[in-house]
This record gives sequence, structure tokens and C-alpha cells, in this order.
Amino acid sequence: MIALTFDDGPDPVWTPRLLDLLADSGAHATFFVIAPRASRHPDLIERMTEAGHTIGLHCDEHTRHPSRDIAWGRSDTSRALARLHPLGATPGLWRTPWGDLAWWSGQVAREQHLRLVHWTVDTHDWRGLSARHMFEITRDRLESGSIVLAHDGIGPGARRTNAAQTLGFVELAAAQASADGLELGALT
Ligand SMILES: [Zn+2]
Repeated sequence: MIALTFDDGPDPVWTPRLLDLLADSGAHATFFVIAPRASRHPDLIERMTEAGHTIGLHCDEHTRHPSRDIAWGRSDTSRALARLHPLGATPGLWRTPWGDLAWWSGQVAREQHLRLVHWTVDTHDWRGLSARHMFEITRDRLESGSIVLAHDGIGPGARRTNAAQTLGFVELAAAQASADGLELGALT
């Protein structure tokens, strides 16, 4: 199985299109959501759940952990989970903003029964690369056990205004996975 993961969503324009594409490809994925964005689009969270995707936690405020202390970490995480629970999402997985960890990140994860998840393949889609370019630089590492980082939302610092190329990448990756006899699955 290859695990496609998407950070920084949900996005009202791009997440629905991505969900359509995943459905057409028979694929599942993992979404590490920004909690206030999830609150603004509860319909998208419901769609993810109904389609069998995994909803993980990204953050409440998209801030680098090493720049903050554990009190902030506890409060940001609790606030995010409290926003997600009423939407029917109870994340067990956590990808921190930019994948950055502070000394306390693991401790807060344990306290909240979250498992930290990094990635093995980075599409760098936030830079605005073309779908073909992203596929070329990652295809050799799209293998069983890969965890692929991409973004369905436009996050802080992104050098692009949309996620069209990310969707193009997903199409190419799905075709390659199918040719290789690999499944695109959700992390659990
Ligand atoms: Zn992010």
C-alpha cells in the first residue's frame, strides 16, 4: 500500500475535487486537517469520513512547535480536537505543521493519544511544481510502505494559488500504483 497524505485542508474548492478524483481512482487517503478550516467546512469532513478516508490532526494554529512551549502545544492540540469532535472526527494520527517537532511534541501526542506521522516522500507541491515534475522526482520512491506528503489546502508560505497540480500528481501516482499492483490506502 502507498499512503497519500494531504495537509492544510480542507479547502472549499480543491478538497471536493480531490475527493472526486480519489473516488474515481478507487483510492483512499489521509487528511491532516487544520481544525478551524474543518469547522468552516463540516460537509467536507463528513464526506471524507463517509468515503473511508482517515482524518488526522494537523493543528489549530499553523505554527512551528520549536517556536512555542509545551503549554501552547497542549492548548493548541486540545482546542483543535475540541473543534473536530463535533464534526465526527476523532483523530488518532498527528502531523505537526511542517513536520517540525519540539522536545514536547511527543509528550503532548501521548497525552492526547495521538501517533505522530511524518512522511517518506515529499512532493514539494506547495512550491507550485507541475504535476509531471512532481511525479518524475518521486516515482522511484512510490513503493509499498511509502507515505507521500502533499497538500489539498493552500498553507502559510505556499508559492502557489491553487492545488490543480497536486490533483494532476494524484492522477499520475494512481496510474503508477495501479500498474505496479499497489493500493492507495488510508493510514490507520
Ligand atoms: Zn501544514
